[in-house]
Amino acid sequence: MQTIGVIGAGQMGAGIAQVSAQAGYTVLLADVGRAQAEKGKAGIAKLLDRAVTKEKITGEARDAALGLIEPVDDVAAMGGCTLVIEAATEREAIKRQIFEQVGKVLGIDAVLASNTSSIPITRLAQASPDPARFVGVHFFNPVPVMGLIELIRGLATSDATVARVEAYAQTLGKRVVHANDAPGFIVNRVLMPLLNEACFALGEGVASIADIDAAVTLGLNHPMGPLTLADFVGLDTCLEITRVLFEGTGDPKFRPAPLLVKYVEAGWFGRKTGRGFYDYSGAEPVPTR
Ligand code: NAD
Repeated sequence: MQTIGVIGAGQMGAGIAQVSAQAGYTVLLADVGRAQAEKGKAGIAKLLDRAVTKEKITGEARDAALGLIEPVDDVAAMGGCTLVIEAATEREAIKRQIFEQVGKVLGIDAVLASNTSSIPITRLAQASPDPARFVGVHFFNPVPVMGLIELIRGLATSDATVARVEAYAQTLGKRVVHANDAPGFIVNRVLMPLLNEACFALGEGVASIADIDAAVTLGLNHPMGPLTLADFVGLDTCLEITRVLFEGTGDPKFRPAPLLVKYVEAGWFGRKTGRGFYDYSGAEPVPTR
């Protein structure tokens, strides 16, 4: 089985390492240092323990997956990887620096992929050793649960690169969709205007938080309302992606809702700060308007 490199051992990187190891790949896991990579692996161990307790996997399967994940000091260890997936912090300067470092050791046939949610793949590819072997591989959170991967090809990405990453994605049991390198790819292009429009509707006094969420949940058969989902994603992240859509297309239909901007300015980012459209300080979320 191939060896995969995963750079960034946070929420997404740890998830990608976990599902890859569960599919039988050896995974080298890097972060800013060995300690952070070890912390990522410890988080995976906890999740796998929980899966054993719930009888979703066996103790042997947990041990086998953990045995395949090897935290490393840095990307210099990834010279033997056939695929390296970058899932570090969403800052272009950080990603460019990583590509430069990994470029020094990347094998001549190896593919480099980025899990970026919003940075153009064609632009990022310029910092990679070979844009033909660079591709976007967009996983969803939480990675072990979500069944989709968006594959994004930059202008220079080769067919062979797309085919190789698609074959890998299929071994994880995920459904692959192909997107061109346009702002927001597919999912965020469609989702963010919904969440942003819900913010406009609230700001313009169309309805209350609870009624907007109930209307979409029951009227459109969505599993949760848009304001609940925005709080879950993080209002800061929603605003950032909406701005990428607005600036990347120049189309005013993507302009951020003033109320969304205000909430972010207030530091009300949603669940992660304890308050967004709902207040999370009690046992149950309570609408704030
Ligand atoms: P996170 O903050 O949980 O993890 C980022 C990790 O990158 C941290 O552990 C950090 O220490 C590490 N890191 C920072 N600089 C590094 C460097 N120079 N070398 C190695 N590691 C470094 O963030 P996340 O939510 O896991 O997001 C990671 C990527 O995945 C981002 O590009 C994000 O846009 C994308 N993404 C996130 C989601 C989501 O819902 N969270 C969904 C899809 C894609």
